[in-house]
Amino acid sequence: MINFNNKVAIVTGGSRGIGKEVAKKLASLGANLVINYTSREEEALNTKKEIEEFGVKCITIKCDVSKSNEVNEMIERALEEFNQIDILVNNAGITRDTLLMRMKEEDFDKVIDINLKGVFNCTKSVIKPMMKKRYGKIINMASVVGIIGNPGQANYCASKAGVIGFTKSSARELASRNININAIAPGFIDTDMTSVLNDDIKSSMLTNIPKNTFGKPEDVANVVAFLASDMSNYVTGQVINVDGGMVM
Ligand code: NAD
Repeated sequence: MINFNNKVAIVTGGSRGIGKEVAKKLASLGANLVINYTSREEEALNTKKEIEEFGVKCITIKCDVSKSNEVNEMIERALEEFNQIDILVNNAGITRDTLLMRMKEEDFDKVIDINLKGVFNCTKSVIKPMMKKRYGKIINMASVVGIIGNPGQANYCASKAGVIGFTKSSARELASRNININAIAPGFIDTDMTSVLNDDIKSSMLTNIPKNTFGKPEDVANVVAFLASDMSNYVTGQVINVDGGMVM
């Protein structure tokens, strides 16, 4: 039922993990894609190849989402290529986990700059063309730990709680322009980001997940597809948990 033919989507941090699955899902439903990445160019080019197999157009753009000048150039480049942007998925994110006592100022700043300011930079830059067209779907990647907190992740949890506040405020500001803004709060999803956790931490986390399994990037991508589609036209300013029913 969902069809993104003639739509253009930007996925930040779209070269691997959840972002890559999101990009592939949107492409499989007909969207043309802009894949943003910061490093590992080969990975981005491989993702582009996989996306083009769906018969859609795809370009890759190197850009650090924490830098507003680079973000503005990325949006200009996307508009030059496609003349429109319908969907923005603010997916790029990092962790710098450590206990608060040991957390350096730069560990805090870096996480906030990419995870939260990056969402602000990309959203601010993309809403101009969206307002012009009176159409836009923005999906922000938050996290369940932005709601419940997590020891060793004060910087990351603060950034994701910020993403939730930003989502709710911007959604209310832009609803009348027909721009829907929602967030997804994934629980534990199997990607590079979570592969660094040791087995003890993983099995203790599993005891809080009623579905008794970790999530896959596709589980998140399916919800992004719903929020990016016209099936969710009356949904805005919401946070949808994709966490296997995690006990909070
Ligand atoms: P990942 O490490 O596999 O991928 C992160 C992506 O972000 C990569 O493509 C990376 O290149 C990109 N990125 C990092 N810094 C960037 C920058 N400055 N500018 C542009 N791109 C940048 O991680 P993932 O697990 O796929 O996570 C994707 C998103 O989902 C993140 O926002 C993360 O916080 C969130 N999330 C993940 C989980 C999980 O369990 N994996 C849970 C909750 C939320």
